[in-house]
Amino acid sequence: MDAILVLNAGSSSLKFQLFGIGGPDGPQALVKGKIDGIGTHPHLRATGPAKTLLVDRDCAPSEVPDLPAATHAMAGWMRETQQVNLVAVGHRVVHGGPDYSQPVRLDEQVLQYLERFIPLAPLHQPHNLEPIRTMIERRPELPQVACFDTAFHRGHSAVADHYAIPERFHAEGVRRYGFHGLSYEYISGRLREVAPDVAGGRIVVAHLGSGASLCALSDGRSIESTLGFTALDGLPMGTRCGQIDPGVILYLIDQKGMTAKEVQDLLYKESGLKGLSGVSNDVRDLLESDDPRAAFALDHFVYRVGLHAGAMAAALDGLDAFVFTAGIGENSPEIRAAIAKRLEWCGAELDPAANAAGKSVISTERSRVRLLVVPTDEELMIVRHTLALL
Ligand code: AMP
Repeated sequence: MDAILVLNAGSSSLKFQLFGIGGPDGPQALVKGKIDGIGTHPHLRATGPAKTLLVDRDCAPSEVPDLPAATHAMAGWMRETQQVNLVAVGHRVVHGGPDYSQPVRLDEQVLQYLERFIPLAPLHQPHNLEPIRTMIERRPELPQVACFDTAFHRGHSAVADHYAIPERFHAEGVRRYGFHGLSYEYISGRLREVAPDVAGGRIVVAHLGSGASLCALSDGRSIESTLGFTALDGLPMGTRCGQIDPGVILYLIDQKGMTAKEVQDLLYKESGLKGLSGVSNDVRDLLESDDPRAAFALDHFVYRVGLHAGAMAAALDGLDAFVFTAGIGENSPEIRAAIAKRLEWCGAELDPAANAAGKSVISTERSRVRLLVVPTDEELMIVRHTLALL
């Protein structure tokens, strides 16, 4: 069977998914797996269709010290266990810069172009690109495709795309790019199937996972996002601060003597739900905790989602539907209910029973805003793009 491999590489993990292609029902997920703890305590886990466990074992740190080694280890395990004909690899790449509004077939020249955006996404871009280089070196004949988290937002108006700083910075790439684009693109398409009567309307999608953002969809296209130049802006996230007065950063540098790297670590790794609660970055832990700071962190998160939802609705001139997706949005009825409460001002009315039961429509029939839960699938979006480019 022909197959496409999808890779999503982070700082210490490599997520992979293998899709069989050519069947009548479109791409079918054959394997979903991850090597995490790269360099410290690497662990390989993968499941097959219907979540059957295929492998779940530690690897020697000397065997998987870095991402290239993890890519080799994953490829070796795939070869041994999966009898498929690999025809392409699709990669998730966080930053496509100002030029890429579509996925692109990778070669050395494109790779070098994408390396220019490492300073714009220092915690994601270098790791996303590493397996590409490894695969180009090992299998130069194998087509590889980069799918960008920024691409879906490249149609934003100039007004939405600018910061109010001198224009020369915009020209050199300091723009409000927006991220989670693969997720939003998938949801936009999925809405045409699950809610065709509102899919062409004014929709706010809330991608609430360890990274979190909102996207304003008008007729299925992104017109605004809470994320901007980097993946720090907008909503507070698991460990990232979200929107912050730039004056705070000046204060940290000028008055507290912090270096740029220290500020970066503070805002990316020690802030958000983790920083506010002092308990955890994981909403499950916070919901279970008796610590009042955990409840406060969740209140803050919900408040900020409501606040930014108002901004997105203003960009759309109104609101027809609000969609919950990603880890928190798909799995937490408590957080969905709290956010829905903050949307009552615009006519949203939650159906508590539907919400508790995890239905896809969780608003009442008379609600003026449809509340929906739509699971996202960024990997499927990548495999579709990769197929389209082959
Ligand atoms: P993601 O980045 O989309 O994989 O989402 C991961 C986050 O989703 C975790 O850090 C949790 O905060 C959250 N999450 C996952 N499952 C649940 C759940 N059952 N209840 C609340 N939050 C959850």
